[in-house]
Amino acid sequence: MTLVEVTTGILICWIILMLVWERVRPFRKGLPLLREGIWVDIIWYTLIQSYFLKIIIFDYIIQPVQHSFDWSDYQFVSRWPIAVQVLFFVVTHDLYIYLFHRFQHANKYFWRTHEAHHSVKEVDFIAGSRSNALEIIINQTIEFLPIIVLGADPAVLPIKALLDAMFGMFIHANIDVKLGKWKYLLNSPELHLWHHANYQEVFYANFSTKFAIWDYLFGTIYDPNKKPGNERENWGLYYEFPRDYFLQHAFSIKRFDEKALFKYPLFRWYYHLRPNVMRWLTNFFKRSH
Ligand SMILES: [Zn+2]
Ligand SMILES: [Zn+2]
Repeated sequence: MTLVEVTTGILICWIILMLVWERVRPFRKGLPLLREGIWVDIIWYTLIQSYFLKIIIFDYIIQPVQHSFDWSDYQFVSRWPIAVQVLFFVVTHDLYIYLFHRFQHANKYFWRTHEAHHSVKEVDFIAGSRSNALEIIINQTIEFLPIIVLGADPAVLPIKALLDAMFGMFIHANIDVKLGKWKYLLNSPELHLWHHANYQEVFYANFSTKFAIWDYLFGTIYDPNKKPGNERENWGLYYEFPRDYFLQHAFSIKRFDEKALFKYPLFRWYYHLRPNVMRWLTNFFKRSH
């Protein structure tokens, strides 16, 4: 069995665990499985966007850079045991992500690269996949470039990618879980779901991804030991945000009023394209039965 087969197997088991856990011990009760925006997150963000961004990041950014700066001969990290290499890249990248995430909340231009991530109102383990394409390009280039340029063991990359996916799902999962004393070290839904609540006091808090320790160390922790309200409007963004993948990206570049754009036939056609295709498909299958 190859390493990729093993990591894929673990990921599938993890997805099943998240699905079951969310039903058995929900953090917010009554969230639907097929919540608003679920298909945008699965089809566009998880499948299509990550497929194309992987090509852009690895083939068009990392590879050319590696061509000019290949430091693997220096063997900075390659002599370490694989577990130490993984730990090194996980910890250093996690600190970077904490700082960049904090900056995204503080800077009005960089906030535009992060707002999509906060636009889901019914946060579940799939919601974490919603990230602006530019945010992914920046973060994953900074994440994977050193692993390749420094000549880490080939196993480090798939293991790191698996840990990213597992943690990303876990901290967004709608599960009621208490980590006890571990919460000072590891991040959990208990802390990160607060980060997605639309409350003033949490907009500059709980920026951590894997290790909650950064928030404790840098004084940005918000841990009231209670849950945010169950209401829909207390989650997500405080302003209207488009539902469509391309309109979400367009909105980050230039603000527009969806309703005002309805006067343009082309916009109306595009806006209704997906529901129309879905309706056509449903009718088609009904007819063929
Ligand atoms: Zn955030
Ligand atoms: Zn999040």
